[in-house]
Amino acid sequence: MTFLTSNTRLLAVLGKPVAHSLSPVIQNAAFREADLDGVYVALRCEERDLLAFMRGLGAAGAGGNVTLPHKEKAASVLDVPSEAVHRTGACNTFWGENGNVCGDNTDVEGFRRALRHFLGDSPTGFRVLLLGAGGAARAVLMSLLDDGVDEVLIMNRSVDRARTVARRFGGVRTRVIKDFSEVEDGEFDLVVNTTPLGLSEDDKLPIDLKRLSRAGGVMDLVYRPHLTRFVRVAESLNIRAVDGGEMLVQQGAVSFEHWWGQPAPVEVMRQALEGVRSSEVVG
Ligand code: NAP
Repeated sequence: MTFLTSNTRLLAVLGKPVAHSLSPVIQNAAFREADLDGVYVALRCEERDLLAFMRGLGAAGAGGNVTLPHKEKAASVLDVPSEAVHRTGACNTFWGENGNVCGDNTDVEGFRRALRHFLGDSPTGFRVLLLGAGGAARAVLMSLLDDGVDEVLIMNRSVDRARTVARRFGGVRTRVIKDFSEVEDGEFDLVVNTTPLGLSEDDKLPIDLKRLSRAGGVMDLVYRPHLTRFVRVAESLNIRAVDGGEMLVQQGAVSFEHWWGQPAPVEVMRQALEGVRSSEVVG
């Protein structure tokens, strides 16, 4: 067991609100398992203080994560952004290196790894229905396009935002639909929910899955409560489905790898998440 010392690296998730974050549970479990001298905390942070926090932690040889609502602001203050930050305009992981603040958007690789874990394969050739057009949707879109999907249809409450995302990040394989009636055949290999609908049991479903003629699989980025209603409804229709827990673990694993330069103990991180969520199961 590692005790806090004067060499202990401080890593922090910065956000507002941040008290709900599960990253401290997952990362501290990983640090313990890998016998690393580090501690991970959640810090409530105003946007005006973000740069100072990131620079200060980076200069101390540490780093952290950035969560809502600061991911876009974080992308704009990095000295060395990754390609994923460039392409999505969002940063969720940062660290100091040679006096610079470096950053990545590990939601991209985290989604890719979680999807492969779910499918057992890559989504090459897939036709995908993407619900939502916010920050997470951009990361999902980048991952899907890089993995060779055939077509992504984006449906979002605000159609203009979906159009902006399609124009700026999508390219020719991306199409925006205003309403489900615009989908001719309703056949999708994968449906991905990137809206927060489902966080509350009273939320409406992101889409009525009965209206699809076929959905090969459903991935819900929402991970609380476990299991989400969207996942439960999909499974009741015999559609394979998974919530956002694996993506949360995998994006955290990629962050861990940036900070520590070694593979993350993913199984221990999964167990730490399940430990918290098992008390929240909705029947
Ligand atoms: P965001 O940038 O605020 O985008 C939210 C999206 O959801 C927007 O497209 C928004 O539509 C739509 N939306 C919000 N409320 C809605 C409602 N009541 N009805 C219909 N659409 C609604 O948020 P984000 O960063 O993309 O995150 C979205 C969700 O993904 C959150 O629940 C977050 O926790 C989850 N997430 C999970 C992981 C993971 O590791 N599992 C990683 C990242 C994010 P408008 O454009 O019309 O406002």
